[in-house]
Amino acid sequence: MPDQLEGGCACGQMRYRMTSAPLFVHCCHCKDCQRQTGSAFVLNALIETDRVDVLSGGTALFGMPTDSGRPHDVARCPGCGTAVWSHYGGRKELTFLRVGTLDDPSLLPPDVHIYTRSKVQWVELPEGVPAFPAYYDSKTLWPAESLARRRAVFG
Ligand SMILES: [Zn+2]
Ligand SMILES: [Zn+2]
Repeated sequence: MPDQLEGGCACGQMRYRMTSAPLFVHCCHCKDCQRQTGSAFVLNALIETDRVDVLSGGTALFGMPTDSGRPHDVARCPGCGTAVWSHYGGRKELTFLRVGTLDDPSLLPPDVHIYTRSKVQWVELPEGVPAFPAYYDSKTLWPAESLARRRAVFG
């Protein structure tokens, strides 16, 4: 995988660069992600917010309703509305970057499939990639380096 990954919105105003590999990549099949993306699942690369450089344009935050009542803010290009990333639980230090907005989304395949209980029937999950009906225990699944990076952010 290249050290630097770039992407942006549909209209081209908003461009960003990831300055390192992500911590972990989620493929989420939950109903909220399906509805909010209009698709079968969402691909999120989890990365420290200070490792995402905004190269041009900016983002507007939209609060999403959640079952838990905890905040979920989606960052969208103000010009075209493309969702480029999210922050969950009010934790702005951690970015859930939409892998589909990368110039080459194939560079970041999912490390885990989550909320497969609401997966659409025709999506077949690959062998060898962990999958869970709901959420999962990152302490047992993430590489030690990613756990250390997360501790550096949240203590
Ligand atoms: Zn745009
Ligand atoms: Zn989801």
